[in-house]
Amino acid sequence: ATPTAVMVATGKGASQGVLIKGGNALENAHKARLVKIVVFDKTGTLTIGKPLVVSTVLFSKLPMEEFCEMAIAAEANSEHPIAKAVVEHVKKLRQQYGSYTEHVTEAKDFEVHPGAGVSGNVEGKMVLVGNKRLMLACDIPVGPEVEDYMSKAEQLVRTCVLVAIDGRIAGAFSVTDPVKPEAERVVSFLRSMSISSIMVTGDNLVTANAIAKEVGIRKDDVFAEFDPLGKADKIKELQMKGMIVAMVGDGINDSPALVAADVGMAIGAGTDVAIEAADIVLIKSNLEDVITAIDLSRKTLSRIR
Ligand code: ADP
Ligand code: MG
Repeated sequence: ATPTAVMVATGKGASQGVLIKGGNALENAHKARLVKIVVFDKTGTLTIGKPLVVSTVLFSKLPMEEFCEMAIAAEANSEHPIAKAVVEHVKKLRQQYGSYTEHVTEAKDFEVHPGAGVSGNVEGKMVLVGNKRLMLACDIPVGPEVEDYMSKAEQLVRTCVLVAIDGRIAGAFSVTDPVKPEAERVVSFLRSMSISSIMVTGDNLVTANAIAKEVGIRKDDVFAEFDPLGKADKIKELQMKGMIVAMVGDGINDSPALVAADVGMAIGAGTDVAIEAADIVLIKSNLEDVITAIDLSRKTLSRIR
């Protein structure tokens, strides 16, 4: 994504891949030197954000090809990394079936449900793709067969993507998304600076805990199954305890939290909406630049004021 807002970066920041926006954002970026807590989003922030579909299951008699065409039609319109994984996966399956078409059926009435999934009308059928929360919110029953598939996938640190067609769960994909190689190093370096790290995610608790363990975030500091406003509320709660809070995120679902935080940092490869909402853009999408930004604020920004 290209940042659309006008950027005013200190010479040093720009050359290091840390863009600080002008105006208010500059004021906020200045607070980075006082940050006591960094709140990290999971998908696309602590993880690489290029998930891969590793298994597919059908819970209905629908042929696999038809199921996949419904899923791709709904997900083709979404910017979410999971959506991209589903689209890639279906395109690969088509090659296996020997049909090389790039055609994607158009979904009418397409809607994004931030932190939950997407919905749309595909050839007269109502298609929902997303997590359990989305299904329950739309009164779609999640039966024991589905629950069983989900819990097995979650134990393997996979996220389940449920696909409902006309009010019933027709099948699911499970996706994996490895953590960024620098994530653990950054969390431990922050700790050495007396800055604690917490995770807020829309994903399920089992997957969230497993990722947290890998990067060195304590179990008590993991907040899972949060919707976008819940993420922002968590930030406000920490601020009420008198802490200066930085938020690092990449998704549409992170924008309220990026705005609420004292310092909002967007991953450069993230969505335009997140970049708009942030004060600082980490253009290399490398988490080490969270530390670069704090360092810059401690050194450079104190001088330009
Ligand atoms: P995170 O907070 O970890 O970045 P999100 O808030 O973006 O995750 O999404 C939370 C959950 O919502 C995802 O783990 C996924 O289950 C579901 N989800 C969101 N968008 C989509 C989508 N386009 N397709 C499928 N699932 C989605
Ligand atoms: Mg994310």
